[in-house]
Amino acid sequence: MQKYEKPLPMINEDNSQYWEYCRKHELRMQQCKNCGFIRFPASILCPSCHSMDAEWVKMSGKGKVYSYIVFRQAYDPSYKDDIPYIVAIVQLDEGPRMESNLIGIDPEKVKIDMPVELFFDDVTDDVSLPKFKPAI
Ligand SMILES: [Zn+2]
Repeated sequence: MQKYEKPLPMINEDNSQYWEYCRKHELRMQQCKNCGFIRFPASILCPSCHSMDAEWVKMSGKGKVYSYIVFRQAYDPSYKDDIPYIVAIVQLDEGPRMESNLIGIDPEKVKIDMPVELFFDDVTDDVSLPKFKPAI
């Protein structure tokens, strides 16, 4: 695999399970067993009811663009070949919002609320990043 120069996620005790699922190309988030709230990013307790009882449920991978920005300058040199690129906040159909890259569309054509779908980018042997592309 080609050497990956960009920053990698900081994997810790709270989120290691999340990244382990990503490596298997599954987007899973913690759902509170007490109140049903789906929380992201991962944490040890529910921000809604403070229960520590949760299970990792699989997300559909479908969502829509809640907001986005277009990077036209490489603030980190490792991104210089990607300019211009899109960082979007995606509203998942299940409720949580997550930041990611939106790939495969001209930045001028992105629209708020446009439907997007998940894919995984295997950037290293250990890390697969969840990213999005326009839904067909
Ligand atoms: Zn809860």
